[in-house]
Amino acid sequence: MIPAAFEYYRPTDMAGVIALLQEHGDDARVIAGGHSLIPMMKLRMADVPHLIDLQAIKGLNGIAITDGTVTIGAMVTQHEIINSAEMEKAAPIMKEAALQIADPQVRYMGTVGGNVANGDPGNDMPGLMQCLNAQFHLTGPDGDRTVDARDFYEAAYMTDREDEEVLTAVSFAAPVGGFAYEKQKRKIGDYATAAAAVQISKEGGKVAAASIAMTNLSDTPVWSDSAGAALVGTACDDAAVKAAVTAMLGDIDPTEDNRGPVAFKRHAAGIVLGRAITRAWSRA
Ligand SMILES: Cc1cc2nc3c(=O)[nH]c(=O)nc-3n(C[C@H](O)[C@H](O)[C@H](O)COP(=O)(O)OP(=O)(O)OC[C@H]3O[C@@H](n4cnc5c(N)ncnc54)[C@H](O)[C@@H]3O)c2cc1C
Repeated sequence: MIPAAFEYYRPTDMAGVIALLQEHGDDARVIAGGHSLIPMMKLRMADVPHLIDLQAIKGLNGIAITDGTVTIGAMVTQHEIINSAEMEKAAPIMKEAALQIADPQVRYMGTVGGNVANGDPGNDMPGLMQCLNAQFHLTGPDGDRTVDARDFYEAAYMTDREDEEVLTAVSFAAPVGGFAYEKQKRKIGDYATAAAAVQISKEGGKVAAASIAMTNLSDTPVWSDSAGAALVGTACDDAAVKAAVTAMLGDIDPTEDNRGPVAFKRHAAGIVLGRAITRAWSRA
């Protein structure tokens, strides 16, 4: 419950954040909504002598939808996602997924940037971003760069982000077709036992394109190219759904924990993916 002592900083521009990250290296961390970092500090699982608050940095807020591209500032909260009519229109899967993250109080604070930068395989937005083929925008001492969400996650809590970089925004092309975020969890606010993000587009009664990503079933989110490919050209019938589930099961690698043994997690993964595909297809 009691975190170790730390120095608190509240810079007002990104140059200030990066200068602090460079000065303190491994001893510094940025804090966004604080709803993953503070719990870890309270358990003393994260040792953060220098805490750099991003709340006063301009340019990390707001949702912009221009020319079919959705850009979400890193400090946009899950609550803002849920309440954005523009977002609901452009990418309704965002609201469907955000409503399954945590609880209202956490969603008032927790940010999109924190959720995707955290690197916890339990977070829901990383898989969702992979499903949407999002890009992550980073800024650091050497300037700006962009990384595909599908290339960002290396292992649990290990991402492509360098210690001195800050994630400033995520962006993706507004998806077309039907969508679903299906999550199996033990209770409100629990991380997924298994979750699936699915986008499907339809042409002439057949699947034209499908993107499938799974949450908390490996030490990173899993975008299953082969599962999506198994649906393309089919009428999304039972056989096609089964083929997609089989393909997805070849890509995940769950571990046993108090959400259940591996066999149960694989079973749950198949069920959530089947349901997500069916719902996405019905909306396509
Ligand atoms: C009770 C509870 C239930 C929850 N349930 C869920 C759930 O079901 N699904 C889910 O996905 N999440 C869940 N969460 C986590 C919640 O969504 C977090 O808020 C979120 O994961 C992290 O966002 P944050 O803004 O709070 O980040 P913080 O806690 O501030 O930061 C998390 C990490 O990301 C880094 N970071 C933050 N922002 C940036 C940035 N812009 N650039 C670089 N690094 C950055 C920080 O340094 C830190 O290491 C839950 C949290 C709680 C307390």
